[in-house]
Amino acid sequence: MPEIDPAEHDVSELGPKVQSIEDPEELEALLSAERDGENRDAVITVIESRLDRIADDEGGGDGDIDLDAMSVAEIGNALQDVEDPERLRDLLDRETNGEDRDPVVRLVERRLNSVEGGDEGDTGGAVTDREPPEERHPELDHPTADKQYVTALDDGTYRDMWVYCETQAGDLLDVSRELLGKARELMDGYNEEYVDGNAGEDGGGEANERVVAMLVGDDVADHADECIALGADVVVVHEDDRLARFRHEPYAEVVADMARWGADPPARDEDRAPTPPSDADWRDYDEPRYLLFPATNNGRDLSAQVQAELDSGLASDCSGLSIEDAGISNPVKTGDPGSTRTFERVLHMKRPDFSGFEYSTILCLDNPDREFHPQGASVIPGSFEAPEPDPGREGLVVDHETDLDDDWFRVEVTEFDRLSGGVDLSGHDVVVAVGRGIGADPTGGMELALELADAFEDAAVGVSRGIVTGSYSFDAHVESYTAEERQIGETGQEVTPDVYVAAGISGAVQHKVGCDEADTIVAVNTDPDARIRDWCDYFVEGDLFEVLPRLTDAVEAGGLDAEAIADGGGGVTPGADPATDGGGANE
Ligand code: FAD
Repeated sequence: MPEIDPAEHDVSELGPKVQSIEDPEELEALLSAERDGENRDAVITVIESRLDRIADDEGGGDGDIDLDAMSVAEIGNALQDVEDPERLRDLLDRETNGEDRDPVVRLVERRLNSVEGGDEGDTGGAVTDREPPEERHPELDHPTADKQYVTALDDGTYRDMWVYCETQAGDLLDVSRELLGKARELMDGYNEEYVDGNAGEDGGGEANERVVAMLVGDDVADHADECIALGADVVVVHEDDRLARFRHEPYAEVVADMARWGADPPARDEDRAPTPPSDADWRDYDEPRYLLFPATNNGRDLSAQVQAELDSGLASDCSGLSIEDAGISNPVKTGDPGSTRTFERVLHMKRPDFSGFEYSTILCLDNPDREFHPQGASVIPGSFEAPEPDPGREGLVVDHETDLDDDWFRVEVTEFDRLSGGVDLSGHDVVVAVGRGIGADPTGGMELALELADAFEDAAVGVSRGIVTGSYSFDAHVESYTAEERQIGETGQEVTPDVYVAAGISGAVQHKVGCDEADTIVAVNTDPDARIRDWCDYFVEGDLFEVLPRLTDAVEAGGLDAEAIADGGGGVTPGADPATDGGGANE
């Protein structure tokens, strides 16, 4: 058995560990443990490459490069071990007289250039000298539009996790509370893992990194105490009556300025006078290390612009966050093909992709010649629990000041309507959702859904997009339940109840992402092949107009409650459907 159990690590963790193993026997043991266990292609490739490299080193680090048999990437890796210019010239001849592949020719030429001293700090071709954009594109007004050439901070210092705390109509949004709680949890873990505990300027050690809340608006300072009670160490407030409503440009300018506050702005912003550092003496760094936004309509809009202003990237619509080290072997990031570099303190931003079909983890990593900070994410409301406020927590509240340019307000809001309320479907024990299956009697179908929801102690009614975009005509007393604000799914709300009842919903992936975190999903559908059957827990094959009333009766009679359904009890048991014949469970 190898010293490392590969099954206990993911690929990014194993990469650096494998690179540090010198003993081929240990690597062989690791390889067979992986093959007998999880058998992941990526892990096997990493171990085999390490074995090859050791074998090459033992053979003088100049093992034969078989141009015909090796891929471009393998050749790139192998070239890093070749020090002899004669041998490189020979390889170049063989390639140009053989397959003559441009990338291979370039790799060999660069390596040759490097070993002959023509290129400082060989990068294996991954990083090339860059002409300044102004010289390269003299015809363009704004040549930095090519992000590849944007100059970000050079050797900047980054600290703290900042959270944009959105308010609406004077209220702090729940998602802002959720983000503060998550930020607190992440930074507590961060300080434990990375900071030595001698916190403080006098202690000489690295100081704990903080959670910084941002409040922007007309009358928002009152929320500062709550932000602190929810986990913020510092609250930065910018108030201006012109910011009473969310406006794209001034909000983005203010938030980006807060993030850079007191630091020298990047060169491209020379036109704007930097705020004197004394105004922000509570911080001594250039930009936030991490920056979180709510993935609300306004938060999505703001996050993209602010992260672009700060010359960094954004992982949008995330639902999971953690901070860990990451071993990366992509040469664009390491600058050295074939090597693995460990990036520390990386925010891992998990988000649903391909309409929720799979989850991706996004990392925002510096390039060898380019820094990407803050590492930024927008987070789907309801992804994290809001913490209990601790009124005893202490924190610092600072006012941010910057002149607001009249030009940012050139779009005038002359009139607006406030939509009534908005509906928050998160936080209920049960959600009853209906889809186009109610088509035969739309009003009657909605009534049945409302009756079932009423029978539970704490339930809400939602709809699929099929209802929102359908041309059904509903009677006035149910119409408000069919509005877009009740849509569940990718472009609607995400709900995580104990029980989710999906009646007359086919189960498109765009709907699934809004509800598949529910503990128990009960589908009612006339079509035994409906897609929802693949991902629900209980499938009731039947007409919702018959099944919903029977479910309502059962709940009212006390024979079926949310907890019982979630436990698989209360009359709904795997293999036995409580409401109709022909139903069944997917467990
Ligand atoms: P249908 O697909 O028409 O399904 C109706 C179901 O009802 C069928 O399975 C049928 O067998 C069943 N049925 C019929 N009669 C009865 C009856 N009497 N009793 C029981 N069952 C019956 N969709 C969302 O829901 N949320 C989103 O956020 C969302 N975002 C989207 C984003 C994008 C970019 C795109 C392209 C699409 C999005 N959609 C979303 C739309 C999605 O792809 C589906 O079109 C939609 O979910 C279908 O709604 P439905 O299940 O109600 O209708």
